[in-house]
Amino acid sequence: MRLFLALEPPDELRQRLGELAELAQARCGGRRMPDESLHLTLAFLGEVAEERAAALAAWVGERSIPAGEWRLDAWGAFHRPGIVWVGGQTPDPELVRLHGSLWDGLAAFGVNHRPGHFVPHVTLLRRARRLETRSLPAIDLAWPWRRLSLVRSFTENDGARYQTLARSPAA
Ligand code: ATP
Ligand code: MG
Repeated sequence: MRLFLALEPPDELRQRLGELAELAQARCGGRRMPDESLHLTLAFLGEVAEERAAALAAWVGERSIPAGEWRLDAWGAFHRPGIVWVGGQTPDPELVRLHGSLWDGLAAFGVNHRPGHFVPHVTLLRRARRLETRSLPAIDLAWPWRRLSLVRSFTENDGARYQTLARSPAA
């Protein structure tokens, strides 16, 4: 099954991010991420066998992570897949640290395709036609986080659907 480790936004922020996605779609086109799918990916694990997935779920369920607060104050775009996102003007050091420690831990599960660099971001649009984010309104949002989620991704015709398999204990 296809898995990733992520942070899920608190409800109020999820709603606010959904409004921003709506606004961005009006300017940039493309497909809007459904509100329930909005997340920050910390580690994309890819295809994982069922047995290993169960071990990963147990690991996440027992591992509390240090709490932090991510400041979202920038729009960005990844050109090739046409992604419009919100994130920080610079990568948040606490998230970069968490990303590193998760990848250290993942090695024990045989997951070793650690990426060279990490740009914490929340995807709002896919296949956007205009990647012009300068005209979008300035943002300054806080994302308090204290739990990690192990999420399964199902491929469906109109885009992926996600299911949370395990959450870490609240910090
Ligand atoms: P789809 O690929 O069907 O358009 P999706 O990208 O939302 O949908 P997945 O590909 O399963 O679904 O990805 C799950 C999460 O992992 C997303 O946040 C995605 O951006 C991220 N992700 C996917 N592939 C990689 C990768 N190779 N490296 C880093 N992150 C990835
Ligand atoms: Mg994908």
